[in-house]
Amino acid sequence: MTMKRFLPIVVLLAPFFLFAQEVKLERVEPPNWWTGFKNPEVQLMVYGKNIATTTVSVDYPGFVIKKIHKTDNPNYLFLDMTISPGTRPGLAVIQFKSKDKVAGKYLYELNERKKGSAPRKSFNASDVIYLLMPDRFSNGDTTNDNCLGMLENADRSNPDGRHGGDLQGITNHLDYLKDLGVTALWLNPFQENNQEKYSYHGYSITNYYLTDPRIGTNEEFAKLCTAIHKKGMKVIMDQILNHCGSNHWWMKDLPSPDWINQWPEFTRSNYRAGTVSDPYVSTADSNLYVRGWFDKTMPDLNQRNPYLKQYLIQNSIWWIEYAGLDGIRHDTHPYPFKDVMSEWGQRILEEYPGFNIVGECWMNYPSNVAYWQKDALNKDHYNSWLPSVFDFPLYDALTRAFNEPEGWNTGILRLYEILSQDMVYPDPGNLVVFADNHDVNRCLDTQNDDVRKLKMALAFVLTTRGIPQIYYGSEILMTTGADKGHGSIRKDFPGGWPSDTQNKFTAAGRTPAEQEMFDYVKNLLTWRQSSDVVHTGKLLHFIPENGIYVYFRYNAKDAVMVVLNNNEETRHLDTKRFREVLDRYHSGTDVINGGEIGDLSLLAVPSKSALIIDLRK
Ligand code: CA
Repeated sequence: MTMKRFLPIVVLLAPFFLFAQEVKLERVEPPNWWTGFKNPEVQLMVYGKNIATTTVSVDYPGFVIKKIHKTDNPNYLFLDMTISPGTRPGLAVIQFKSKDKVAGKYLYELNERKKGSAPRKSFNASDVIYLLMPDRFSNGDTTNDNCLGMLENADRSNPDGRHGGDLQGITNHLDYLKDLGVTALWLNPFQENNQEKYSYHGYSITNYYLTDPRIGTNEEFAKLCTAIHKKGMKVIMDQILNHCGSNHWWMKDLPSPDWINQWPEFTRSNYRAGTVSDPYVSTADSNLYVRGWFDKTMPDLNQRNPYLKQYLIQNSIWWIEYAGLDGIRHDTHPYPFKDVMSEWGQRILEEYPGFNIVGECWMNYPSNVAYWQKDALNKDHYNSWLPSVFDFPLYDALTRAFNEPEGWNTGILRLYEILSQDMVYPDPGNLVVFADNHDVNRCLDTQNDDVRKLKMALAFVLTTRGIPQIYYGSEILMTTGADKGHGSIRKDFPGGWPSDTQNKFTAAGRTPAEQEMFDYVKNLLTWRQSSDVVHTGKLLHFIPENGIYVYFRYNAKDAVMVVLNNNEETRHLDTKRFREVLDRYHSGTDVINGGEIGDLSLLAVPSKSALIIDLRK
C-alpha cells in the first residue's frame, strides 16, 4: 500500500507523570476493506505501543465499532467493525485517544466491490495451469534485486539464494505464456519473506499484506492480474495459513502466547498428513502433526486463536478482492487445524460462489486425499469446504509407470489403478493433475532424461480427467541439477535475466530438441483449449494389456481416444476390444501430427509415445 493512511501520529510523552506511557499507532490490518460483502463484519487488528490503553472511535455513517477486544499484550487491539447495508465507500477516520489527547488516527478506506466480482469464473478443467516461481522465472527489474531493510540480497551463484526474479519479469513474458497456450498462472508466494537466508521460495511470510519489495509491490501485482485477465488467462495465488516466517513482525511481540503453537524446544511436525483422518490415530501423533513446526524458520500458527482465525480468513478474502484473483492454491493444507480450514473455505465460497481453491494434501493414497475434497462422505462427517485437491497419488504413479517393467501390478497399470479408485472423490474432475512441481524432481529427471517419456507424461496429464498443471521450463526440457536440491528444481528460466547468454523464451534461442518439445506442448495446449470433451467429457478406460493403456474422453457429441504405448517398440494395436466406443466412429485426426486416420481398426503407435485421436463419426 503506497497510500498514506496514517495521519501524522502524535506521540504522547507526558513528562509530568512519573509513569508516563508512550502510545504509538503502527499498523491496522486489513489495511482497507470493501462495502457490499455478504458478511457485514470485519475485524481490524490494531498494533502499536500501548494502543490498548487508548479510547477508540470512528465517525462514519454505517461503519461502526461493534466490539473492542484486548489481549494480555497492551500493544494490540482487535476491533469488530460492522458495515451496514448501504454504507457508502469512502474514508473513515479511526481515532485513538489517550487521556483526552489524540494518540493516533488511521484513514480507513472502504472501497466499493468491483462489479461482477462475485460470483466469478474460477479455474477449472478447461484450463491448463502453468506453475512458476517468481524469483526464478525472469528478472524484469534489476533495481529491486536488493532492497533496503531486506535481509537477503540477490546472489545467482547460490542455488538456495535469491536470484532477482520479479513480477515485472512475469509481465514481460505474458505473450510467451499466451503463445504457449497456458490459460492460468499459479505463482509461488510473493508476499514479503524477510528472512536471513533461503527465502526466495516465498513460503516464510513475514508480512501477509505486503508483496516482497524484491518481487514487486502490491500495486504491481494488481496490475499484473489485470494484464493476465486482459490476455484471457487466470491467476492462482499461493497462500499459507499453517505457518509464517520466523522473522514475521509479530514474532517479536505476539498478541498472546497462544498465537503460535509453542513447545519447550523446537519440535518438528511428523509430516504425517494421514494422521488427520486416521481412525486409529494416537493423540501424540495427531498433536505432533498439527502443532509441530514445519521448520525452525516457520513457526506453527495456532489458527484456533479466534483473532488469528479472523486475520487469516480476512487476508485471503482481501487478496481475492484486491487483485481479482481467480483461484487459490493452499499450501500444506492438512497441517492447520482442520475445523478452521473448513470455516476458511466456507467463508471464501460464501463471498465468491464458484471460486476454486486447490489444497496441497501430499499423500499417495486416493482415500487419504479424498478426505480433503469438499463434500467427501467422511465417516467423521468432516467437510473441508476445499473444492479441489492435487492428485498426488496419480503423480506418484506417473513417476513409476513409464520406468519399471510391465507386470501384474507394475508399469503403466499404475495409472489405471489409481484412476479406478476415483469413487472415493466427490468430484474427480476437479482434481489438479501434474507430472512435477516446485517440490519434486522435474519430470524429465523422473523419466530418466527420456524426452519420449516426458511427452507421454504431459500427454497423459493433459488428457485424463481433472485440471492439468505443468511446471515452468518443462516445455524447453529444463532438468534438475545433479545435486537434486530444491534450488536446482527451481533453476532460473534461461533468458529471463538481462545477463543471460541464451534466451529460451525465443525460438532463436532454443536448440532443435528444445524447439521440438516446445512445439509438442504448444500444439497440445492449443488443441486442448477448444476440446470441450477433454474438459468435461466422461472418462472410460480399458485395463492395460501388453504395456498399452487405452482410454477415451467422450460426451454426447465428441470423443477423443488416447493410446499410451509403454513399450520400447512400435506396436500395432488391434482395436476390437474397444468396440463399445469405437463402433460409433469411423475415422479421426491424430492430434499430435495432424495426420488423418481413415482406418481405426489397427493403430500403429510408436515406442514410448502417446497417440491422441479426435474421433469422427
Ligand atoms: Ca529483480
